[in-house]
Amino acid sequence: MKTIGLIGGMSWESTAEYYRIINETVRDRLGGLHSAKIAMVSVEFAEIEAMQVEGRWDDAGVALAQAARQIEAAGAECVVICTNTMHRVADAVQAAVSIPLLHLADTTAGRVRSENPELRIIGLFGTAFTMEQEFYRARLEAAGYTVLVPETADRAIIHRVIYDELCLGIVREESRAEYIRIMEALVDNGAEGLILGCTEIELLIDPDQAWRVPLYPTSRIHAQAAVDWALEEDS
Ligand code: GLU
Repeated sequence: MKTIGLIGGMSWESTAEYYRIINETVRDRLGGLHSAKIAMVSVEFAEIEAMQVEGRWDDAGVALAQAARQIEAAGAECVVICTNTMHRVADAVQAAVSIPLLHLADTTAGRVRSENPELRIIGLFGTAFTMEQEFYRARLEAAGYTVLVPETADRAIIHRVIYDELCLGIVREESRAEYIRIMEALVDNGAEGLILGCTEIELLIDPDQAWRVPLYPTSRIHAQAAVDWALEEDS
């Protein structure tokens, strides 16, 4: 089994889910007392969030590159950035280390392809950065998907709920209803599947609940892909 490197803390609410899912997946696959080998650096999210808001992405890249070097020095054999948004600086992180980065957009596109090969139009939910900037959407488009995002006012609602509620561990019924309304609108506009492209959204929307189109929960997909990678040579 290889050692998985996690860059977490963005927010720790979702990183805790990664930690749980990775260990549960290893236990389910290997049985008994087996658990994952993990090296993790968990950052101070308020510092990173300030860099996001101020557009200081180069500084954020330096901070996460430093975290990547720390987990590599601790024995990690891959890097997993436990947030969709911070894949904005994935290139800087990859350039800082000699171990591979398991990119969340690629991993998600791979899951969509393997589960629903006929699907072409995908809806993307996430922070404003993820929904509006190129770094994530372009990766999905390169994988052959047409990406739909909610309209402006709804994107603001999704973003606000992530930072003001979910990253603080607050789960509100009214916010769930709003998300479902926006999900419905995106499907009405043609989305054939929906990427829950923020690692906290699974805290609000249960990905196991049957829905009109397939849901792709990115924390779970990323965590399971990390285990696939760590166990590859063992199987
Ligand atoms: N965890 C979130 C994501 O997957 C948002 C928090 C952050 O800004 O990293 O995008």
